[in-house]
Amino acid sequence: MVIATLGKVVADYRARAALAPSHVAERAGITTAQYLALEQETAWPGIQAAEAVINALEIPAHHRAQLAAASAPLDKYLQRMLHRYDIPALILDSSWRTVEANRFARTLLPDAGRPGWSLMRWVLFADDARQRLANWEDVATAFTGVLRDAMAAAPHNSELLAIRRDVEQAGVPAAPSSQDSHDAHVFVWRTDSGPHPATACLITVPGGRPGLRQATFVPRSINPGIIPTTTAAHPTPWYGPLLTDLLSCGLCGLLLTAGEHPTSYSCATGCQPDLPADMLELRVATKVLTRTLTAEACRDLGAAQQILTADGIELELNVPVSPQHALHQWQRSMTDTQRRGILTTTLKSVRAYPAPSSDGPHRVDLTYSWHELA
Ligand SMILES: [Zn+2]
Repeated sequence: MVIATLGKVVADYRARAALAPSHVAERAGITTAQYLALEQETAWPGIQAAEAVINALEIPAHHRAQLAAASAPLDKYLQRMLHRYDIPALILDSSWRTVEANRFARTLLPDAGRPGWSLMRWVLFADDARQRLANWEDVATAFTGVLRDAMAAAPHNSELLAIRRDVEQAGVPAAPSSQDSHDAHVFVWRTDSGPHPATACLITVPGGRPGLRQATFVPRSINPGIIPTTTAAHPTPWYGPLLTDLLSCGLCGLLLTAGEHPTSYSCATGCQPDLPADMLELRVATKVLTRTLTAEACRDLGAAQQILTADGIELELNVPVSPQHALHQWQRSMTDTQRRGILTTTLKSVRAYPAPSSDGPHRVDLTYSWHELA
């Protein structure tokens, strides 16, 4: 089934009404350039402009419903979710052009919000990508696989066909056909100093919008502060004995205790050295989150949140798109109450055994006892 795009429908109705682009733009209260961007699908002029054009052309209701399934604007729920993510995320159309980018995406990729910007073209052809991505060759090669999948879904998409021609000309090596493009693609970002931060670019299909893609950049490093983000978006760092009543000494069985603002957990009988609190809590969080949040669970949670949001129910925190994202939220967005809630609902207890032979700060072995998953 061929579903006409919004641009084609608009062009069709304008032709039937025998109106010049400037007349439609004037009726809709937008600029002629904005109108032409919509009709020629070179850029997304914004939801209000698109709606104004649809109204100005008096496109009937039954046709609007079809558009909603094809290439129409984001509904407000999807839009709200996008902007509530605490990491870079953008919605792309079937040509991989930006439909909408959240502020973190526009910080990470400053041009991402510009009309007609394409993540696919940026990765494959932009000098900026070659300069900023330490693993550009790998990412570009992987994206030839993404392109192949995108073309399988939309074989007649002229923009994708054009990108493929440009890929051949540019000589970007093709990804092996077995590569699963639904895996996350790791982007390693060059910085002026220090280790290169990495993000996983996850490509997902927003619920109910099979023509669109969401690209989410999930931090891979557990070192906070390395993804460019706008300021004041994150709550204060957390302190507190999150493992109270959950953590016991593997030698004597006593619960390990920590002060009100703990830097370490300790056994009252002193049978093993104090354990650094932040290392231990993060280690337990990592274990809990990766065990609980499988890719499937994240998909289900995302679908559930869309339904809740559509019903007007706001969650305190966006559901994570992956265990890595959850860990990022754990470190940067969650309150102690939320962290503690996750621990107590999943974990019965953790026992810590001294392991002097192991290296570094992890001189302890942990054994876990879990609540049964519902
Ligand atoms: Zn002990």
